[in-house]
Amino acid sequence: MGKLYVVGIGPGDAQNMTAAARAALDKAELICGYTGYVELVRPLYPDKPVFATGMTGELTRCRFCLEQAAAGKTVALVCSGDAGVYGMAAPVLELAPNYPGAKIEIVSGVTAALSGAALLGAPLGHDFCVISLSDRLTDWELIERRLRCAAKGDFAICLYNPASHGRPDHLRRACGILLEEKRPDTVCGLVKNIGRAGESVRILRLDALRDAEADMFTTVFVGSEATKEILGRMVTPRGYRP
Ligand code: SAH
Repeated sequence: MGKLYVVGIGPGDAQNMTAAARAALDKAELICGYTGYVELVRPLYPDKPVFATGMTGELTRCRFCLEQAAAGKTVALVCSGDAGVYGMAAPVLELAPNYPGAKIEIVSGVTAALSGAALLGAPLGHDFCVISLSDRLTDWELIERRLRCAAKGDFAICLYNPASHGRPDHLRRACGILLEEKRPDTVCGLVKNIGRAGESVRILRLDALRDAEADMFTTVFVGSEATKEILGRMVTPRGYRP
């Protein structure tokens, strides 16, 4: 019987891919995914057939994988980071009732919030929340409401999708909203290309983050009231008194 593995491959480097993700890719007869992610795993499996589509082909990709699994193939649908965090696990499971023959297994991966946090230090050492600034599938009003609530709740905040070609100013707008509630010197971090060529890490204040340059391979961290910079690392204390 076929099976669809929905696999989070981590940020991009083979070392941050879990053994379970690797095992699922080993078993797969066919590897599918967004072209950029398929290219990340292709060197590990140069001989396996691949099916790659562009950024907006998400549902086509899911349906294709479900059809293949229902027809008896073992397929891996790859996502960067974790498959369930702004990934393909949810749409696959939403479409699953239409493909009763397809067995599905979700394989978790290291999401950018966690791989990026490790590079910065320990920005997520206490309660935190994750918000995507992409309004491709979510109304901007809801994104603004969540930003306000996160700031009011004094969570450390991790921002995904801070910018893309079509929306260069989302990070600036988000920082403007956070600055209504938070101090301008709140410790923040910017991590680019985690686990890939051009990896970079920067710690800066919230008022400087507003003017910082971010792209679609950037993950942003905004500290809570308690977050500090210690020896060049971003740290949100757990509350111990060292
Ligand atoms: N499923 C992915 C998230 C997909 S949304 C995960 O769990 O990580 C895409 C956003 O994730 C990007 O805009 C960026 O904010 C973040 N991201 C994913 N991979 C990244 C990487 N290697 N370096 C920095 N940010 C990354």
